[in-house]
Amino acid sequence: MVIGVFGGSFNPVHNGHVSLAREVVARGLADKVMMVVSPLNPLKENPASLIDDSLRMEMLRLACAPYPELEASDIELSMPRPSYTVDTLRKLSAENPHDSFRLIIGADNWECFDRWKSHGEILRDYSPIVYPRRGCVMPGEDSPATPMWADLLPVSSTEVRERLARGREVNNLVPPAVLDYIRANSLYS
Ligand code: ATP
Repeated sequence: MVIGVFGGSFNPVHNGHVSLAREVVARGLADKVMMVVSPLNPLKENPASLIDDSLRMEMLRLACAPYPELEASDIELSMPRPSYTVDTLRKLSAENPHDSFRLIIGADNWECFDRWKSHGEILRDYSPIVYPRRGCVMPGEDSPATPMWADLLPVSSTEVRERLARGREVNNLVPPAVLDYIRANSLYS
């Protein structure tokens, strides 16, 4: 099976994330997408708005639950820190030797990709899928990475957090089960 790997803080996961992950599968670029929540970095100053790993992971699980092609993964939460994407990909390959993995990244990350740890290995072994970000350059025709021209939903986790903090609705921005969880646990209020 070909598995797309889509990482993020998912603070919280929103409809833009879910729709992009499903689009990767709908276009036949992967059979399934693993959404990997990144841990709080104990070596870095984290923004006060970044909530606990376990809460972000639970929301990711709820967001993926309706879709058999999506899976929430906590693999990075138990890895030594700081964790690098290549280490996550290597661990996934070692644990799932019959599957192949593809990295899913935005064009913002693609622009500085040659500064990523072991980027040559990622390009060779984890053929990246790159989605557009406003104003950022996409892979060219001779690139080993695959451009995925998709319109992203105009939503960000920052917008969701800000709306919640002001007591505004986020009904159309996050999956219903995630919204219920946010309300039940009084998150971002
Ligand atoms: P924040 O507003 O807190 O910076 P975010 O909405 O960008 O968060 P992240 O968890 O940082 O969410 O994103 C994980 C990945 O999802 C990022 O690599 C980012 O490029 C991508 N992403 C962000 N917004 C969208 C969107 N609307 N649709 C699809 N993907 C998105």
